Amino acid sequence: MPILGRKDKTPLGIYIHVPFCRSKCQYCDFYSLTTKDDRLIDRFVDAICAHIRETGPLAPGYRVDTVYFGGGTPSYFGADGMATILTAARRAFDVASDAEITFEANPDSISDKLLRRLRGEGFNRVSLGVQNDNDELLRRLGRPHNYAQVLTAVQRIRRAGYRNLSLDLMYGLPGQTLAAWQETLTHVLNLAPEHMSCYALKVEPGTPLYDYKDLCNIPNDDVQADMYLSAVNILKEHGYRQYEISNFARKGMVSKHNLKYWMGGEYLGFGPDASSDFAGKRFKVVRDLHAYIDGIKRHGPVLEEVQEIPIRERAGEYLITRLRTTVGIEREEYEKQYLLPFDPLEEALFRCRDHALAAKTSEGRWRLTPEGFLVSNSIISDLLLIQDQSAPLARRR
Ligand code: SF4
Repeated sequence: MPILGRKDKTPLGIYIHVPFCRSKCQYCDFYSLTTKDDRLIDRFVDAICAHIRETGPLAPGYRVDTVYFGGGTPSYFGADGMATILTAARRAFDVASDAEITFEANPDSISDKLLRRLRGEGFNRVSLGVQNDNDELLRRLGRPHNYAQVLTAVQRIRRAGYRNLSLDLMYGLPGQTLAAWQETLTHVLNLAPEHMSCYALKVEPGTPLYDYKDLCNIPNDDVQADMYLSAVNILKEHGYRQYEISNFARKGMVSKHNLKYWMGGEYLGFGPDASSDFAGKRFKVVRDLHAYIDGIKRHGPVLEEVQEIPIRERAGEYLITRLRTTVGIEREEYEKQYLLPFDPLEEALFRCRDHALAAKTSEGRWRLTPEGFLVSNSIISDLLLIQDQSAPLARRR
């Protein structure tokens, strides 16, 4: 007989990292390999399913309400592997019948057959990597698709019955102007997605782009700030509510899975380089597919870091993650959970409000404005410094 009823169970997200891509984009530092060796893929599927089976019994009081297949390019990896992994997750965990089940896709690896098969397996959300509508720019970024393939992919996704589609775009691209970015947004909004993510291009060390970043006319910080603020406005005009620095959704269509990362929810990650935050601990799987497969096979260690998070660090995470969202932070929530004083933080937030960088809602919650999101790193650093200098409430009494 189950000890906990459905309603008593703690929500849990599952993340599956699929480390395969058709080719490597010039700016990408995600862990993925460009091999498509069938035997390696079979070994990966066996390993991740075994990992899921071993972990399921550790989460008896949890109910999975989101499953997210990211990568890598899950659509390139294929429907059979994804279906097998999702079945393993359903057998090992209590996955809710109405769970949000997402897979990331690229426009060049989407077929009617794959979409219908995954829809039949219970996948109900697609996150499509579009990035831009200019074929020459897509080519220069090393993207494996053109914009015509985006249009076809969206038609296919709709025809297969998906009612929750997210499109990813990037701005601050080599040679991109503000006008070109605004035009891209307008084109992509014609596709009527339920959700949009707009990320600034980040030039990470170790990527090919990093080596020639100074030669390719990347827009400066001021232009990127204008691009960001214009995206916030254009999306708002089209009925998309901003709920996180880079994420926008039509009413009721926020990404429940990604919200877990920002709202302190628990999640378990499977596959190389996947992260977890579960039962008060944070851990990360080794960033090496072969070490992952061998580790699981030999029942050896596959985790790189396991950290128990002290309460003060959790308080810092609360500031860092909640202030990325439009939910923001609140006195009672903060003081009750972390036993730290909110007053010093609020003094700083009032100063931000004087510069239109933060706002206090009628419910007493503090959130950053779009202008504040642009400088969120420095605002949050200041708040963390203030928090570090605060004595715990209990000790002060
Ligand atoms: S498709 Fe995505 S994960 Fe793969 S290389 Fe490009 S950006 Fe990276």
